[in-house]
Amino acid sequence: MKSPIPDYLLEVVEACGTDNPGATADYIPELAQADPDRIAVCLSTIDGVVYTAGDADAEFSIQSISKPFVYALALADHGIDAVLARVGVEPSGEAFNELSLESGSGRPLNPMINAGALTAHALVGPATATTEERFERVLRGLSAFAGRDLAVDESVFDSELSTAYRNSAIANMLRSYSVIDGDPAEVVRGYTRQCAITVTVRDLAVMAATLANGGVQPLTGQRVVSRTVVRQVLSVMMTCGMYDAAGDWMSTVGIPAKSGVSGGVLGALPGQVGIGAFSPRLDAHGSSVRGVRMCRRLSDDMGLHIMDGPEPARSAIRRDRRLRGPGGHTVRVCSLQGTMQFSGAELVLRALASAEDAERLDGVVLDLRRVHSVDDVAERMLREALRRLRLDGLRVTVVDPECVLDTHAHTHRPARDGEIADEFAPDLASFDNFERV
Ligand code: GLN
Repeated sequence: MKSPIPDYLLEVVEACGTDNPGATADYIPELAQADPDRIAVCLSTIDGVVYTAGDADAEFSIQSISKPFVYALALADHGIDAVLARVGVEPSGEAFNELSLESGSGRPLNPMINAGALTAHALVGPATATTEERFERVLRGLSAFAGRDLAVDESVFDSELSTAYRNSAIANMLRSYSVIDGDPAEVVRGYTRQCAITVTVRDLAVMAATLANGGVQPLTGQRVVSRTVVRQVLSVMMTCGMYDAAGDWMSTVGIPAKSGVSGGVLGALPGQVGIGAFSPRLDAHGSSVRGVRMCRRLSDDMGLHIMDGPEPARSAIRRDRRLRGPGGHTVRVCSLQGTMQFSGAELVLRALASAEDAERLDGVVLDLRRVHSVDDVAERMLREALRRLRLDGLRVTVVDPECVLDTHAHTHRPARDGEIADEFAPDLASFDNFERV
C-alpha cells in the first residue's frame, strides 16, 4: 500500500498555496530576494519517519527558529537557574525586534525575542569561549538536533551583518545592563551567524521531532538535551514563540512553535510529531503567511491542538474480576492497560481502595501484561498500593513479564522477584485454571 499521508500533505500545500499574500523580509537584503513562490511542508514522527510535500529540498536560513535550540544549549550548559538569572520567560506581546527589557533587572523578557536570543547565544559554552568557539558549539548543537551537519549561508550572514543596526542597538543595551559580558559587536556577529544556518523543512521537522521526543534525536538515537531542558524550551515556545501573535496561535493551532523571517515555521507536539513549514512571504508579525496557514490546517485536520489532550485514563482498568484458583483461594485479578500516568494510577488506587469484599479475598493480582509504560509518579502510586494491600494481610502478586514497573532507576529489585514468586505464579499466564466467582 502507498501511504496516504504524502497525498494528504500535498492537498494541504495546494489548499494553502492558492494565493500568496504578505511580503518577504526587507530589512535583510538577501531575504528580500527570496523566491516568494516556494512552499513546502514536512512531518516527522518521533520514531523518525518523515513525510514531505512541495519544495521539500528548498534551503533557507533558519533565522529565529534557531532561538529555541540555542536556548536549549544555554540551558544544557549552565542549568535553568543560571539562564533564568539573565533571561526571563514572560511573553512580551511585542515585536521580535523590540528594544525592551524588564524594568528593574534589565533582563530580556524571554529568549524568543531578539534581546533574549542575543543573551542566550552569549551564554552558550564556557564564559571564556571565543566568538568562533561559541559559534562552533551552536553549529554542532543545531546539527545534533537535525541529525546532519548543517552549514552557514555566507551571503545571508554578510547581508544581515551589514545591516544589523537594530540588533547592535539591542546588544549594546544588554551590555549596558551587564546582561551580557564582553564585546556586544561579537555577540551580534555570533547571533547573526546562528541565524544564517541553512535548513530545509525536513531539517525543521526532525529538529522539532527531537523536542517532541523528549530530547532524543529520532534518526541518530542521540540524546541531544535532557527532558528537563526540553520541557523548559517547549513551554517558552508555547507562550512566546509566535511573538505578539502568541495568543491567537495558542487558541487556533495550539502547538509549541517558532517562526523565522526567512519564512520557516517549526512546531513540536510533545509525544507525537514534529512539523516544518516554509513559504517566504510574511505577515505583520514576521511569520510566514502560508506556513502559518499550513500549520493551522494540519492542527485542525489531525487534531493536534495540545489542549485537546490525550484520551484520558478512563480505560486504564481493562478488567477487574474475582477468580477462584485451583487451590481454593479467591483472588481479585485487576488487569490494567495502556500508559500509566497519574490519572490512570489514581483510577486503579480508587478501585482497589473501595473493594467491598476485601475480607473475603485471599489475594490481589495486578496484571500489567497490557501496560506499555508506567511513569515515575504512577509507579510510586502503584507500589504504595501494593504495600498497603500487603499490610491489609492480602497476598499480592504482580504479573509483569515486560518489567514495566522496572524501568526506573530507583527500582531496587525487579518486580518478578518475590512479588510474583508465590503459589499463583504458575497459573498466571492465562488464569485458565481459575473460575469466576
Ligand atoms: N536574524 C533575524 C533578526 O535578528 C531573526 C528574526 C526572526 O527570524 N524573527 O532580526
